[in-house]
Amino acid sequence: MGELRDRFWELPLGELSRAEWEALCDGCGRCCLHKIEDEDTGEISDTNVACKLLDTRTAQCTDYRNRKAFVADCLRLTLKIVQDVPWLPRTCAYRLRADDRPLPGWHYLISGDREAVKHEGVSVAGRVVSEVEAGPLEHHIVEWGSE
Ligand code: SF4
Repeated sequence: MGELRDRFWELPLGELSRAEWEALCDGCGRCCLHKIEDEDTGEISDTNVACKLLDTRTAQCTDYRNRKAFVADCLRLTLKIVQDVPWLPRTCAYRLRADDRPLPGWHYLISGDREAVKHEGVSVAGRVVSEVEAGPLEHHIVEWGSE
């Protein structure tokens, strides 16, 4: 990983280096869950069904480097995508910074604790099932809360 500037997470998203951009993720795993879009209303429902590459115990991608090869529609978040997609959780570090809001105190860059995202109830670790075993998505609609 390249050089990370001091308090880089307070800089505008567009000024971050690639390494800083990657380091901003809190690792919650919420963007690795399937969503269902209602064809008529466009309304998006969350599910507790994870991408097959997600380790459901840790909420980490098991092959982040090669994920596009296995999951072609995995989104590589960019500034434009962060601004365009409606489904990133409100806690998502990219969404917060895109809105010029500060990172929460539990974010590992602030707290120094990678586990805090779990203790805070934001991480999906241990709370999701893999798509490999889930069956129909419609049976797995969940509310992840207001975060
Ligand atoms: S929702 Fe945002 S903070 Fe959470 S894993 Fe995805 S990119 Fe990272």
